[in-house]
Amino acid sequence: MYYGEKRVEDPIRWAMVGGGKGSQIGYIHRSSALRDFNFELVAGAFDIDPERGKAFGKELHVSEDRCYPDYKTMFAEEAKREDGIQAVSVATPNGTHYEITKAALEAGLHVVCEKPLCFTTEQAEELEALAAGKNKVVGVTYGYAGHQMIEEARQIIAEGKLGDIRIVNMQFSHGFHNVAVETTTASTKWRVDPKVAGPSYVLGDVGTHPLYLSEVMLPEMKIKRLLCSRQSFVGSRAPLEDNAMTIMEYDNGAVGYLWSSCVNCGSMHGQKIRVIGEKASLEWWDERPNQLTFEVQGESVKVLERGMDYLAPSAMVDDRIGGGHPEGLFEAWSNLYSRFARAMEAAEKGKSVDFWYPNVHAGVEGVRWVENCVRSADSGAVWVDYE
Ligand code: NAD
Repeated sequence: MYYGEKRVEDPIRWAMVGGGKGSQIGYIHRSSALRDFNFELVAGAFDIDPERGKAFGKELHVSEDRCYPDYKTMFAEEAKREDGIQAVSVATPNGTHYEITKAALEAGLHVVCEKPLCFTTEQAEELEALAAGKNKVVGVTYGYAGHQMIEEARQIIAEGKLGDIRIVNMQFSHGFHNVAVETTTASTKWRVDPKVAGPSYVLGDVGTHPLYLSEVMLPEMKIKRLLCSRQSFVGSRAPLEDNAMTIMEYDNGAVGYLWSSCVNCGSMHGQKIRVIGEKASLEWWDERPNQLTFEVQGESVKVLERGMDYLAPSAMVDDRIGGGHPEGLFEAWSNLYSRFARAMEAAEKGKSVDFWYPNVHAGVEGVRWVENCVRSADSGAVWVDYE
């Protein structure tokens, strides 16, 4: 159980690039970072429009002289201060992540970067090497991974309760973009523009989320080859897809299916993962995140509830309120930000950490998966060896 007691010695002096007023994801970054007093928001370049960014920064109680017109100015000016920023979160459209994260690492900052980390595996590996060389943390916000029922699933699988894993069935398929909403919505417009979004739309935007959940639950399993078919049902989105199915073969003989979509009419969110072993299955769905279904063949279904004593101790340490009350996306994000902070503090002290979190390597693996999917789809939906 967690009561909000401090988890780092001193709050980390933190800034944001992007996440301005009207953005989709900025608020949850602030809410999660600030909730447990692990971070202190002291600076920002919050918006592509400097005036709007400055006005918003003031509304967030950031002093006017630390609301910067752009990230380059912020990194340069903050480096001159004794109390300058130590970490930055990057919540801008995809096409800027690589350059901002690279500049932040070069400026000696820890980074929390939105997914996708960048457009190519080569760039991603460069960032990973740079972070290692600078001894800096890069966290990536695969938000629901921080939900405790994901940790519970990881423990159940590690204990062998499913037996050998045969099938991983995943999806993140919502229906909000079944028509060309990008003509009227700025945050969708860039998502279907390859120059800003990168080589994919839904594969990177939503598919990488359940992919990371599978990496958390099944850390030993590695993809051997995959086949991806992608479509642009709203034709103007081509070459970027609004629907895709990926089939993966793993090194242990298991098979995985991942459906990424934004045209699944009527679906609110639709992020699910079902792990099927030779004896039993587990299923988790982000629209009811507090319940994890455990199904043993031939027995009645068990629904495991968050916050209950029968869960693994590691699935209880971040519990903020007992079972029965719901915890959701905001708590999951807070748990991740708490781990990011502890990892940053440990890095400063030259120590390693004994917990998992979506780190720079997870970011690399997300980019690698998208790249392989696109390679397969654009070669005619053929099997490709995983590179
Ligand atoms: P958005 O278009 O709603 O907002 C982008 C924000 O960034 C705006 O405030 C804009 O002014 C600002 N901005 C753009 N370029 C900038 C620059 N160079 N410097 C400073 N500010 C800049 O986008 P969004 O939906 O919030 O998505 C942002 C990122 O977050 C994307 O990479 C997206 O993939 C990711 N995202 C992640 C999740 C998740 O669950 N982890 C969910 C949604 C979005």
